[in-house]
Amino acid sequence: MDNELFQITLLGTGSPSPNLTRHHPAALVEWGANGHMLVDAGDGVVNQILAAEKNLGAVENIALTHMHWDHILGYPALVWGGWSAGRNRMSVTGPVGTRDMHHQLVENYYREQAEWAIDLGFARDGFDAVRVRDVAVGWSEMLDGCLVEAGPVYHPPMDALAYKFTYQGRCLVVTGDTARCDELVQFVQDVDVLVIDACAVTPGDDLPPARRKIIERLHEFHASPQDCVDIAAAANVGKVVLTHHLPGVMPEVDASAYAGEVIIGNDLDVIDVT
Ligand SMILES: [Zn+2]
Ligand SMILES: [Zn+2]
Repeated sequence: MDNELFQITLLGTGSPSPNLTRHHPAALVEWGANGHMLVDAGDGVVNQILAAEKNLGAVENIALTHMHWDHILGYPALVWGGWSAGRNRMSVTGPVGTRDMHHQLVENYYREQAEWAIDLGFARDGFDAVRVRDVAVGWSEMLDGCLVEAGPVYHPPMDALAYKFTYQGRCLVVTGDTARCDELVQFVQDVDVLVIDACAVTPGDDLPPARRKIIERLHEFHASPQDCVDIAAAANVGKVVLTHHLPGVMPEVDASAYAGEVIIGNDLDVIDVT
């Protein structure tokens, strides 16, 4: 019945700082009957999948935006957790470095324990049938009727990707971490929903100088909340969803020049792509 479903559930809308109400970056995109892609796997992703009442064992498709630790700390937990929940295949897509990350964090460290679990009776495919591939801007594939494409962002010094999902004429982009760049504005032209990194806030005057300096430097590789709205306006985006929030900061934006809707994303928010 649910052929029209196309939505994104924000699983983690936080920054690297540990926070009970804003987990590390992760979001589950779902379409049609079974189509899905988990974008990023920050710390807490397994619990957040459960908190969102999703079937952990059915999460088989993962796209990682980049290898910064706040986007992948939950990855080994996802490999193990999904396996425990009955998952028997997994496809992992990400920029250069993704295969190496899987090898180092999962295969290298946990192979011996996995063999022990298999000996106990865990299905071998749950650990072995994990296809991990490094891709680049321009990569695309059809997945359960949805066109998934990798696009450009600016997040030096990392190799990083945005992902675009086009399903039944509707379009969603999840940027991962990025500063404003022209290539991104082009990539998100006319999309219905844009979920974008808004981490680079203006530091308050009351902050200690060392903390202030860190936040000021964020602008070199993250967008500010205002950048997000400006990008959405420049690209004629229908709805812009701000995420990757620093703790205790409420982003302020001037949206008077933007005709669309601005959403400050919170953990477990569900946004329909319409
Ligand atoms: Zn990053
Ligand atoms: Zn990040």
